[in-house]
Amino acid sequence: MESIWSKTSDRVKRPLLDSDIQADVAVIGGGMAGILTAYQLEQSGMHAVVLEADRIGGGQTKNTTAKITSQHGMFCHTFVEKKGEETAEKYVQANQSAVEEYKRIVREEKIDCDLTEADAYVYSMDGEKLRQETEAAQKLGICASFETQIEIPVSCAGAVRFPDQAQFHPLKFIEALSEYLTVYEDTPVTDGDGNLIRTSCGSVRAEKIVFATHFPFINFPGIYFARMHQERSYVLALENAGTLNGMYIGDGKDTLSFRQYDKYILLGGQGHRTGENRKGGCYDRMGVSAERLYPGSNVAARWSAQDCMTSDGIPFIGQYAADRPDWYVATGFQKWGMSSSMVSAMLLRDMICWTCLRRRGSMMNETALTGDDAKEENYEDNTYYRRKNKRKIFKGCHSRIQQASEQVL
Ligand SMILES: Cc1cc2nc3c(=O)[nH]c(=O)nc-3n(C[C@H](O)[C@H](O)[C@H](O)COP(=O)(O)OP(=O)(O)OC[C@H]3O[C@@H](n4cnc5c(N)ncnc54)[C@H](O)[C@@H]3O)c2cc1C
Repeated sequence: MESIWSKTSDRVKRPLLDSDIQADVAVIGGGMAGILTAYQLEQSGMHAVVLEADRIGGGQTKNTTAKITSQHGMFCHTFVEKKGEETAEKYVQANQSAVEEYKRIVREEKIDCDLTEADAYVYSMDGEKLRQETEAAQKLGICASFETQIEIPVSCAGAVRFPDQAQFHPLKFIEALSEYLTVYEDTPVTDGDGNLIRTSCGSVRAEKIVFATHFPFINFPGIYFARMHQERSYVLALENAGTLNGMYIGDGKDTLSFRQYDKYILLGGQGHRTGENRKGGCYDRMGVSAERLYPGSNVAARWSAQDCMTSDGIPFIGQYAADRPDWYVATGFQKWGMSSSMVSAMLLRDMICWTCLRRRGSMMNETALTGDDAKEENYEDNTYYRRKNKRKIFKGCHSRIQQASEQVL
């Protein structure tokens, strides 16, 4: 049941933690969210260490389909209705910035991870819904269009297209990015007490601690177990199924997902709440869909993954709980964890850098934000932070921040 990503990547083994160490930030979890957060922090001059229970990318990230897109299904219209245009715009634009940030990192760090640009499509039988969605996406600043012809063999009235999104090989990307980082593998964190976290073989004292463990494993405070549920879905890598240019997902329940990787079409589907699959047979049903859509194709790999779902469809990114000022969390990615991991990394970098700089007062140089400009939210574009004695500088992103305990974006 190895994913196509696990089958086609070599991962270097990292050491385990075997002493008591200190760092600016301890990032718990070496999936896409943890590695990107550590990378963004290092780029801004903070020393971050990653503590991974198993191997980096070895959690849900190794089993994703790795579409990088701000199109999170058919969501713009309902999002505007439920949360208002301002919140919806922030959400979409944060995710669109994340798509661009992946492209920038891959380009500037010259990472060989098979990243290609591709348009993202959500298809539906409901033409009116597609029209509404296209208009809503356009209002939120996306160059969306309504397409009546698409290249996958499904019945539909058309699809909403988001141009210039991306797809990649997630494990090749994570492996390359980790070369810049201090990573300890086979190092499960067992508990945390203020600024100290413990493993069975050593501890880390850090100014800030980020829980990027997919599911936040400390139940109190936070009570994330009561605020999210898990959903699982299944993926087949199909050979002899032709090729696709775009990335696709259907609207509604029992929907299918499509993208190309190398000579394979990755077909995803059969989503269900984790634990509610008494009948089983999801791979068999995926096989039936594959045979119907791509007769004569064969299954080169198959796997499944699960993700954390929040009640209102918005991830938790920010402070872990009101009474843990130095703890942060990134979770609840709703099966859109590639862009959401990058959004988390950028938001947490800004939150952590800002509070550390404020605490360290003297380390803010004259070009950094001061006073009212930067008080709590809305870091303007073109602001720069620099840490003393470090050469790296980062450019602040447009981020509006709330605490995770109130939900973010
Ligand atoms: C079938 C499927 C397809 C998907 N396709 C897409 C897609 O195309 N595009 C997209 O954007 N999203 C997609 N997603 C969602 C995406 O894959 C996930 O949201 C994302 O991989 C989650 O990354 P993460 O870093 O939060 O979690 P993980 O990758 O699970 O990383 C968490 C890490 O924390 C470690 N850990 C846990 N506890 C501890 C501890 N106590 N101490 C130390 N380490 C610990 C784990 O070992 C793990 O490595 C998909 C999801 C599913 C289910």
